[in-house]
Amino acid sequence: MQRPYNFSAGPAAIPEEVLQRAAAEMLDWHGSGMGVMEMSHRGKEFNSIYEAAEAGLRSLLAVPPEFKILFMQGGGLAENAIVPMNLSRAAVVDFVVTGSWSQKSEKEARKYASEVNVVASGAASGFTTLPDPGSWTPSVGASYLHICSNETIHGVEFHELPDLRALGCDAPLVVDFSSHVASRPVDWSRVGLAFGGAQKNIGPAGLTIVVVREDLIGQALPACPSAFDYRLVADNRSMYNTPPTWGIYMAGLTFDWLARQTEGQARGIAAMERRNIAKAELLYGTIDGSQLYYNKVSPPCRSRMNVPFFLRDESLNEAFLAGARERGLLQLKGHKSVGGMRASIYNAMPLAGVQALVDYLRDFEKAHG
Ligand SMILES: *Cc1c(COP(=O)(O)O)cnc(C)c1O
Repeated sequence: MQRPYNFSAGPAAIPEEVLQRAAAEMLDWHGSGMGVMEMSHRGKEFNSIYEAAEAGLRSLLAVPPEFKILFMQGGGLAENAIVPMNLSRAAVVDFVVTGSWSQKSEKEARKYASEVNVVASGAASGFTTLPDPGSWTPSVGASYLHICSNETIHGVEFHELPDLRALGCDAPLVVDFSSHVASRPVDWSRVGLAFGGAQKNIGPAGLTIVVVREDLIGQALPACPSAFDYRLVADNRSMYNTPPTWGIYMAGLTFDWLARQTEGQARGIAAMERRNIAKAELLYGTIDGSQLYYNKVSPPCRSRMNVPFFLRDESLNEAFLAGARERGLLQLKGHKSVGGMRASIYNAMPLAGVQALVDYLRDFEKAHG
């Protein structure tokens, strides 16, 4: 049976193969007599699951040895506090605001840093473009500079991470990559810390991934909760307290699935990136070529993962969504803060799913155009 195509922004679709395998192993993982949710995080069974997940992510994203991979809880929003508690040294921090998520991060950091500077913003464009890094004015001596590399709600994406050193800025770059992690390679030479909730592109909600350069660890504010102190989390291999064991297991299955993907000669993340480019081109091309739909984002800044779009006749919104559901195209309603529609086309969405959406867009326009 063909499952419906799920365009949710998060929690989002998980590759069917991963769900099947989790279902098959639910009652008895590898002959252990236990399901993964029932295992001690300190036993040898879970230890092997943990090691495989960590190694899987390290190899997929080519994470260099000087970076620690932490499996935490609390989601992206908790990291908005945990990052400044660990990295700000209660001093000055810089933000580039490019949409709702970086805006939230910037507000939260004000609780911990002595000063928060917005060194560039896309607000004047309604967050439809990204400010050119050449125009940023980083603060002297900032503890770090934060960006959100893919804005899930506004649908803008950095297709290249900024090179802060080229701007004469030696602060580490902090990246919220929640909604496009593992959709493309990461240039770690430009990154100090990257974090992301798992529920967009990696697995179930409840797991947060933090990849942090080791030299940035160890300066947490005294009030930082021990369970959120990167030093303690890293020294205890993410097991200072009970980690989100089920989420780590599911992430490991997803990393394994990702590593096996191919597109032509490309494998793993390179294959995923090719597929994601093809999916995005198909969908944006259809929207741009229509009379009924439009997307507001400047083409070079458009996200490959989250495609917000609008109907020129908004009175058709309900009919559009109902017709989509009938065709097995789920969760296309836009975020409440911007309205309209949004198709999130993460790694788990096959090209055939985007093709089905595009066919529907054309048919609906024909019927209502
Ligand atoms: C979803 C999302 C978050 C928030 O994650 P929570 O797990 O709900 O805290 C943060 N940043 C970005 C870019 C997101 O897409």
